[in-house]
Amino acid sequence: MQTPVMRQYFAAKQAHPDCLMMCRIGDFYELFYDDAIIASRELQLTLTARDREKKQPMCGVPYHAAEQYIQRLLRKGYRIALCDQMEDPRLTKKIVRREVTRVLTPGTVVDAGLGAEQSNWLASVCARGTGSAAGVGLALLDLSTGEFRATEFPGTTAWAQLMDELERLRPVELLYAEGGPVALQGGRQGSLRDLAASTPGPLPAAEQDQADPGALAAVRTKTALEDWVFTPDYALPLLRRHAGVHSLDGLGLAGHEAAAVAAGALLHYLQQTKQGGLEHIDTLRFYQRGECLLLDAVTVRNLELVEPLFSGESAQTTLFHTLDACSTPMGRRLLRSTLLRPASHLAEIQQRLDAVAEAAADLPRREGLRRALGGLLDLERLLGRVALDSAGPRELVALAGAMACLPGVRDAVGSFHSRRWRQLAGTGDPAGEISTEAKDQLSGELSTAGAEISTERQAAFDALEDLHSLIAATIADEPPVNLAEGGVIRAGVDAELDELRELGRSGRQALAGIEERERQRTGIGSLKVRFNSVFGYYLEVTKANSRSVPADYERKQTLVNAERFTTPELKDYETKILTAQERSGEIERRLFAGLRRQLLDAAGRMRETSRRVAESDLLACFAHLAALRGWVRPQVEESGVLEFAAGRHPVVELRLEESGGGRFVPNSISLEAWVGSTETAEQSTGPSIALITGPNMGGKSTYLRQAALLVVMAQCGCFVPAERMRLGLVDRIYTRIGASDNVARGRSTFMVEMTETAAILNTATAQSLVLLDEMGRGTATYDGLSLAWAAVEHLHEKIGARTLFATHYHELTLLANRLPRLKNLRVTARETASGIVFLHTVEAGAASRSYGIEVARLAGLPAAVIARAREVLKLHERAETQQVARALEAADEQAAAPLQMTMFTPLSQRIVDRLAAVDVDGLTPREALNLLADLQRELGASS
Ligand code: ADP
Ligand code: MG
Repeated sequence: MQTPVMRQYFAAKQAHPDCLMMCRIGDFYELFYDDAIIASRELQLTLTARDREKKQPMCGVPYHAAEQYIQRLLRKGYRIALCDQMEDPRLTKKIVRREVTRVLTPGTVVDAGLGAEQSNWLASVCARGTGSAAGVGLALLDLSTGEFRATEFPGTTAWAQLMDELERLRPVELLYAEGGPVALQGGRQGSLRDLAASTPGPLPAAEQDQADPGALAAVRTKTALEDWVFTPDYALPLLRRHAGVHSLDGLGLAGHEAAAVAAGALLHYLQQTKQGGLEHIDTLRFYQRGECLLLDAVTVRNLELVEPLFSGESAQTTLFHTLDACSTPMGRRLLRSTLLRPASHLAEIQQRLDAVAEAAADLPRREGLRRALGGLLDLERLLGRVALDSAGPRELVALAGAMACLPGVRDAVGSFHSRRWRQLAGTGDPAGEISTEAKDQLSGELSTAGAEISTERQAAFDALEDLHSLIAATIADEPPVNLAEGGVIRAGVDAELDELRELGRSGRQALAGIEERERQRTGIGSLKVRFNSVFGYYLEVTKANSRSVPADYERKQTLVNAERFTTPELKDYETKILTAQERSGEIERRLFAGLRRQLLDAAGRMRETSRRVAESDLLACFAHLAALRGWVRPQVEESGVLEFAAGRHPVVELRLEESGGGRFVPNSISLEAWVGSTETAEQSTGPSIALITGPNMGGKSTYLRQAALLVVMAQCGCFVPAERMRLGLVDRIYTRIGASDNVARGRSTFMVEMTETAAILNTATAQSLVLLDEMGRGTATYDGLSLAWAAVEHLHEKIGARTLFATHYHELTLLANRLPRLKNLRVTARETASGIVFLHTVEAGAASRSYGIEVARLAGLPAAVIARAREVLKLHERAETQQVARALEAADEQAAAPLQMTMFTPLSQRIVDRLAAVDVDGLTPREALNLLADLQRELGASS
């Protein structure tokens, strides 16, 4: 039999089957059945039961501590529904009404413990069409800051591109259509829902299989929504209403229906989960991957841009960590997203570099700006909390505190003169300064972008002074944590409130007076006036004194040691005080809500200011690094050049410095993309491929990564650790580095390596930068060598991209004789009496050998093993060098002579000779037959 409470529970659970249902009962949130089993396991709670047969498991968490338990469940990827009491249990005799008031999910909850430098993406995926007509739309929202964007991937590679983007952005929650692509399914709460019964989606399974599923596996929570949510008829009007527009074209969404539908479905989800106000959500911004220097997920990981290559390693190995001298969380988040999307437009990069150069050269003003930024808290996240109605009085005070720093920031930004600073300060960017031509070009390139260069950021920097005064004038200086405690609103704001508070105060004084008077009247020194929420105000007298109680006292309650009384006078004051309190609570709530409303009406302004703060912070950070570490401005241009002199790996250098591990040895490079096949172009271009050989541990990998990192930094607008750098814009960086271990994902290393290499050879352009490190290592020597050889030839002949190729196959250095635009480089080592010393310098030339045995000796292999290895190596090397040289010669001859194919087993020389000697014209038919029979016999004998 079901109790009324359980009936409420089942109704709630039915409406939210994929959530853990937390049902408020008394002072606890209770979970039942499967939910209870999961929660008790994940939170280590004791599992009890509602019934004697123990068939109805349950467990609970105290209401007051619920927050931390909820956060723990969310972090593990669960969705939670809160079923709350809708009435005050003290005020109703019947069963209290309960309803689901909020659904909490990893992507919609703003966790106070959220990493400040990381975005908390809620993603929504909408797949439409198939084959080359396929399109996958992706919408992303960070509810904690309000950042909202969407993109679309077209064509047959749409799915792979989506996976790549997901892997880079790492959303915490992903929404998809229930009947959509199978690959999306299989959520964390599979046991709660029948995921198996899904129909295959519009993308053929084959296409889904090609994509790396790792990105999906990394998303903790996948939430299926009903298919109709992802229909244009439903989702598009929703999006239009939210954006307040009649047509989505203005948002850059023309022709990108999949992206728009994904965004609309995401808004639906927010409504469905009853999130608070959504006013702080930014206008949806459509972006395209091509607008920036493309870095695929593999490259982001290999270069350790934002996360260490091996999870669990310290984050100090990342470029993000090394470059993070930002003063605000907004700046830090922008740094992170900028590293993932460096700029690709020359004008944008130049503007940033100009701004950095100016600030780097001006210590007082730069420090002025950094000091001003230093006091800023996370404006964006605070605003987010206000919108989601989870901001208490203290958060508003913090918000006001942050705003108080803004005028200082505005003035500091305004003290600079270069164009980007003036745009940020809004102190005029005289239109005359940019030629109309340049403007046309810019707006042409950016028709759908708008993100990287905003030519119209001309409104003045809004320091939000009015909002600051508004908060400061409304909220008390040191308000309590909760609104309900009272005393949040400053005195003088509301006359009635002040009056009620005065009433309360005088009432309490009167009570103190009563206590004093009654003590004297009764002669009971320990008599007290007290309050509790059930009985209100009362006079308490210990049992020992109860005989001295006067007759006009009215008994209220008897305890073990004491008795409690009231008097008509006390009752009177009680009513006065409580009514005043209630009424003033109401007024405070009303005023607080009004303030919140006013702040939210200004959400757009706050977001714009946050954006400018973030960008100012990032530029100041780059300038600070340039000045502090002596970095130089890269010369970025439209060409195919990649050149640096005395370059250093920023991360390795810093780590060596910090650990006292010696100095980083600077090194140089000079490459040039090979663009055309015309004679003249071929003559004028420098080498496009550098083949780097040398001993293990010599610094090859470091050199490769350094080149890529300097390119990323330069295109972010950051100065670089080098004496000099010249860079022709790079469109995309490809990496194939080391034998990174993907075994955990169920793919052999070699397969991964070849997949990555295939992607490079198929899609790189002459403007790309390609890093190949130890290619071919995952297979047998000759396989690997041959594949590496062919790949280098292809890059050289067909692509022309600037390429750095590090290899332990020093046989490959022979390629330099055959490929005019390939240059051999080697990392140097010196052999001393005590062993090998790595010099880490990179110089022209090929390594003569690989020093593997020396390195093994350093590693401590027994001397006898080392000696034997030397012998074996000698034998092999001799054979191998001869073989490769011979193979090369043969290949050259083959290329010179017309190709002759041998289709049969060669005949024995004797037969050939006899045939050649025959005078066919002089043979009689009979002789011919005899000869034939003879030859046949001989053939039979010889085989
Ligand atoms: P390889 O790829 O040739 O095996 P690595 O690039 O992995 O060698 O470098 C091996 C070690 O040498 C790295 O741990 C790095 O700290 C150090 N190293 C590399 N290049 C330099 C350099 N230019 N100056 C100082 N130390 C370096
Ligand atoms: Mg290496």
